[in-house]
Amino acid sequence: MQGLHPYVPGEQPRDRVYIKLNANENPYPPSPAVAQAVTRFVADHPEKLALYPDPDSYELRGAIADMLNQSGGVLCRAKKTQDGRCEPYFTDQIPFTVTPDMIYAGNGSDEVLSFVFYAFFDGDRPLVVPEHTYSFYPVYAGFYGIPLEKIPLNADWTLDIQRMTIRACELDTSIIFANPNAPTGRMLDRSQVRAMLSTAPGDRVFVVDEAYVDFGGESCIPLLAEFKNLVVVRTFSKSLCGAGTRLGYMVASPELVQAVTTVKNSLNHFPVDAMAQQIGIAACSDTAYYADCARLVAQERKLFCRFLEEHGWDVVPSVTNFILTKKDGVDGEEAYRRIKAEGVLVRHFNTPGISQYLRITVGTAQQMAALRNAMENL
Ligand SMILES: *Cc1c(COP(=O)(O)O)cnc(C)c1O
Repeated sequence: MQGLHPYVPGEQPRDRVYIKLNANENPYPPSPAVAQAVTRFVADHPEKLALYPDPDSYELRGAIADMLNQSGGVLCRAKKTQDGRCEPYFTDQIPFTVTPDMIYAGNGSDEVLSFVFYAFFDGDRPLVVPEHTYSFYPVYAGFYGIPLEKIPLNADWTLDIQRMTIRACELDTSIIFANPNAPTGRMLDRSQVRAMLSTAPGDRVFVVDEAYVDFGGESCIPLLAEFKNLVVVRTFSKSLCGAGTRLGYMVASPELVQAVTTVKNSLNHFPVDAMAQQIGIAACSDTAYYADCARLVAQERKLFCRFLEEHGWDVVPSVTNFILTKKDGVDGEEAYRRIKAEGVLVRHFNTPGISQYLRITVGTAQQMAALRNAMENL
């Protein structure tokens, strides 16, 4: 126990009802297909709750693969077709068909990441990470005893890809980062990631966490055709309006999927429960719905960035469902408290380097209007 440094999630207060713009959740409900699947499951097949679920989530993995093939891994650019499905925007085309044996499904991408850490990293060599990134990576590194090699970001908050790659080569080790990155919202395009992969050690696993890519990034899934050491981790919690159901997945070569499956089977071989599998399958059947949600978020992001800039805030350019912003002369923590007093929760980090900033999740038009009111006089 001693020496563990647990993750601190966005607060979930129970004292009053806040507009929650602090945990990058999706403000929209899941597709109606999800509610229908839950109702049918409970009404028509209650006996299935008495049985163990499919330990391999086979049907769910097929549904995830199908959604990726329809969207190209970036929902906000996916085009709707006549038959209610989607097809990728031309720059998002995946040059192969994603198959179920390339998917590992788990209880949220946090669990998937935990198994990825266990399967592929160890205490013998440090893991290369950006200095500011998803704060669960240091938590897992601490838990599994993996030293971290933290690489400072560039002045414009982008990743220093050259330094990260050089250090990975010097240390003969793995790299992990989120793309787009959190909490900055900045992205690398696919050619930048390809350049990193071409130089980084080819026999060390290279992990890209695409939790936010559907809101406007570029997916690295097409690069799986070229790099056998690439692991892409994704979640239902952000763009699939599903944080309350714990579902996440990894896309990689069948060999790497098998390695993570072995870890899973050594701990708990029934990780995704029957209801969650049904929810995931139903969600993936309505790609077009989630593509529209992602577009709405992107549209509100644009409007809110304009508001911030007009009111003197510095905005880090974002392709995600959140915005990192600060204003000269306004203390980050104080701004957070004053916005909270107006009934809106945003995120403030006490981390050196970003403590002047707020990280604000993009919500519905109505939620953002309330936030604009709360920030008008800051
Ligand atoms: C939200 C988030 C996750 C966690 O997703 P879950 O599937 O809810 O566990 C993983 N990585 C990043 C970068 C995130 O922001």
